[in-house]
Order: sequence, then structure tokens, then C-alpha cells
Amino acid sequence: LWAARTLAHSPIEVLLVDRNNYHTFLPLLYQVAAAELEPEQIAHPIRSILQEWPNVDFAMADITSLDLSQRLAEAASLTFSYDFLILATGSTSHFFGIAGAAEYAFPLKTLGEAITLRNHTLFCFERAVHEADPQRRRSMLTFTIVGGGPTGVEFAGALSELLYGPLAQDYPSLDPNQVQVVLLEAQNRLLSGFPERLQDYTLTRLRKVGVQVHLGAMVSQVTQHRLHLKDGSEIPTETVVWTAGVQGEPLAKRAGAPAARGGRVAVLPTLQLAEYPEVYVVGDLSHLEGEESPLPMVAPVAIQQGTTAAHNIVRQMTGQSPEPFHYRDRGSMATIGRNAAVVSLRSRTFTGFVAWVIWLGVHLFNLIGFRNRIFVLINWAWDYFHERAVRLILPAQATSGPGKNPSSNQAP
Ligand SMILES: Cc1cc2nc3c(=O)[nH]c(=O)nc-3n(C[C@H](O)[C@H](O)[C@H](O)COP(=O)(O)OP(=O)(O)OC[C@H]3O[C@@H](n4cnc5c(N)ncnc54)[C@H](O)[C@@H]3O)c2cc1C
Repeated sequence: LWAARTLAHSPIEVLLVDRNNYHTFLPLLYQVAAAELEPEQIAHPIRSILQEWPNVDFAMADITSLDLSQRLAEAASLTFSYDFLILATGSTSHFFGIAGAAEYAFPLKTLGEAITLRNHTLFCFERAVHEADPQRRRSMLTFTIVGGGPTGVEFAGALSELLYGPLAQDYPSLDPNQVQVVLLEAQNRLLSGFPERLQDYTLTRLRKVGVQVHLGAMVSQVTQHRLHLKDGSEIPTETVVWTAGVQGEPLAKRAGAPAARGGRVAVLPTLQLAEYPEVYVVGDLSHLEGEESPLPMVAPVAIQQGTTAAHNIVRQMTGQSPEPFHYRDRGSMATIGRNAAVVSLRSRTFTGFVAWVIWLGVHLFNLIGFRNRIFVLINWAWDYFHERAVRLILPAQATSGPGKNPSSNQAP
């Protein structure tokens, strides 16, 4: 979108292709999964965004193959030819080959997956009410999150508020002591990459809101009713949420683009492929050659790279050399439920309520669409002063990717 927006002011025909007809604001995806926001409040139709960009067209198509030498991108019934290509297909969940994870864990990368997880969570409570066996009831009410990065931390905080707040009131016959939120992190700290003070605050805060955090916990296997750890221990659980890893979306790899770590594509400092100077790779998919530690898979990197790639295409068309990409890191933040967040802005750090207000403001500002901003604000305010409103088990949604737990994932 940022590449298209940059090119919208050049005399170039631009075609934006996406398998979905909407853009998803991923930083708030966990709030859909935690029944805090409605899906349509964090999504926006792409064609509506493009209305202000007259020379940008849109095609809804799932690109299944690329022929880089012929300059073709192919979908089921459509083939697109190009003079220049910007590949920004992002990333998918990475299960590191852990047995059962792809089959039984719930990923949190798309709107469909967030709705599936929300349905499943609410349905676990509906089933637990009628479950006579206390062991089975306990595993239905144990929610395990694998991965203590920003998504895992934010979801753990929001889930704990949902389970110990509105759901405890909805299901008075269930013993709240049987409800557990467990967060597993393989390293010995949460929010790797954040300043230590913020990591410590996050750990204390999560424990305060009822999340059981286990550091140095390595998952070895996931089954339908159990999670196994490398140290031999087990957690009876019917819900394993996977926020532990992502890898580059495999389309480019299939097309023979140069592979880098984590399924990403190795690019020149100008974001071009060495062999195909008309092809740019940006965002989560891109790995700058020669970088010791790869750039993080975050939105600011994707936005800045999309803009640079677009500028470089204009430069190429006007006979100038493409310029190298330089990332401007403006900081990072994560929220830990209501009233608490951690924010790192250059050399300054904030925690608690102040950080939470900064987090709210930044996310509201970056959400696309005035209508979405208003509805999200109303929802947050309602949630803050009254109760969480979005607790519907909608008819089972189509999901993309793994995470289909056959016996427990089906809403009635
Ligand atoms: C739950 C979650 C929370 C996050 N929170 C934050 C945050 O708070 N702050 C932050 O900075 N970053 C956050 N991120 C990371 C951030 O969203 C990504 O780094 C960013 O979206 C990457 O942008 P991208 O353009 O590379 O890929 P994406 O935004 O993933 O876009 C890829 C697009 O390509 C489309 N696509 C993929 N394959 C095909 C195909 N074959 N054919 C057609 N279309 C295709 C997809 O539909 C998608 O629209 C979060 C990510 C997740 C999953």
C-alpha cells in the first residue's frame, strides 16, 4: 500500500494484487481474537483506499507462481505481466517442525485465524459448563500461548482480562480457579529486543493479571488435548496459541528467489534481487544481504521499504541509480491488558498508564479509515467503563493455514 501510494504520484500504471480485498491492521488482530474488537473494525477495503490514487488499480487474486525470467505473476485464472515487481507477500507462521504444532496449534496471523480462535475460546467455556470430568474440564479451560514476543504478551494480557472478567460473570457455575492462562517462552526473558526494564515490568504485570509465565520453556509436541515440553513436563490443554515464530511467505522461494534465514529473500541494499534488478522485495519477506542481525518483521520496516522501492523504481525509469535502504527505527511498544503497556522511544522508556495512553494514541492514529477509528474508540471506551461487548460465537469461519482442531474447533 505504501509503495502504491508513493507511485500514485508518478506517470506509471500501478496494479496492486492481493488475495484479500481488504487490508488488515495486524497490530490489533489479537483484540479480535480476545473478543475486544469486531473484525471489520481493524480491516479496510483496498478499493476504498485506492479511490484517491487514480493511476493505481486493484486485482483480487492469489498469486500461485512467479516466472521471474518471463516477468509473469500467475493466479488460478489470471496472469499478470510486469515491467517492475514489488514483492510484499509478508510472512506465515513458523512451527519449527515441532510435532503436532501445525495441526493443533492456533496461529494468529490473519483475520480468519483470529475469528477461529475467538470462536474456539468461547466454545471451550460452553463445553466446559457441561463437562462432568474435572480433568477434561480443566484442559478445556487451560489456554496456552507459545511465544513471549509482543503478540504473545499482548494476547495473554487481553485473554486473561476476558477470561477472568466477562467470561467469569457469564459462567458463574465454573470455578475461576480452573481457568488458566499460560504463556511459554523459550528464552529466559519476554519481549526480546526491548530494554531490560520493560521486560521485567512486563513479566511482573502479566503475573499480576493472572498469567502463568514460564521462561526457558521449550515445546516438543502438541496434541489435541496436551502440550509437551522438552524437560518432560506436560500441560493438559485444548488451546495452544502459536505466536512463537514467523517465516517468509513461500511464493518467492518457489520462484527461485535467493533464500535467506527464516524463509526470507536475500536482497541488495537497494532492495532489488541481484539477478533481476526490476524485482524489489520488501517488508517481512525481505532480508538485506550483509546485515548481521536481520531487520525486525515490523510494520515500520515494511512501510519504509515499500516507499524506498517505489522511489527506486522511479529513479530507474528516469535513468538514475537506485539508492540503498536505511531503516529509521522510531521505537517499539506493547500493551499488557488494560492500563498497562511498555514503550521504548529512542533512549526513553515508559511503563504503566502513561505508556498505555501512548500505545492507544499511536494505534488509533495508524488505523486506516475514520469510521474504524471511531468504532474502535467507542469499543475501547465501552470496554473500559462497562464490559467487553464482542462475545458472539459466530458460525464457523473458513480459516487459512493450520490450527484446525477438529473436535473442539467447531462452533455449534
Ligand atoms: C498479530 C500480529 C501483530 C503485529 N503487531 C505489530 C505491531 O504492533 N507493530 C508492528 O510494527 N508490527 C506488528 N506486526 C508485524 C507487522 O504486521 C508486519 O511486519 C507487517 O504487516 C509486514 O508487512 P508486509 O507488507 O511485509 O506483509 P503483510 O502486512 O503481511 O502483507 C502481505 C500481504 O500480501 C498478501 N499476500 C500474501 N501472499 C499472497 C499471494 N500469494 N497472492 C496474493 N496476495 C498475497 C496478504 O494477503 C497480505 O495482504 C504484527 C503482526 C502480527 C501477525
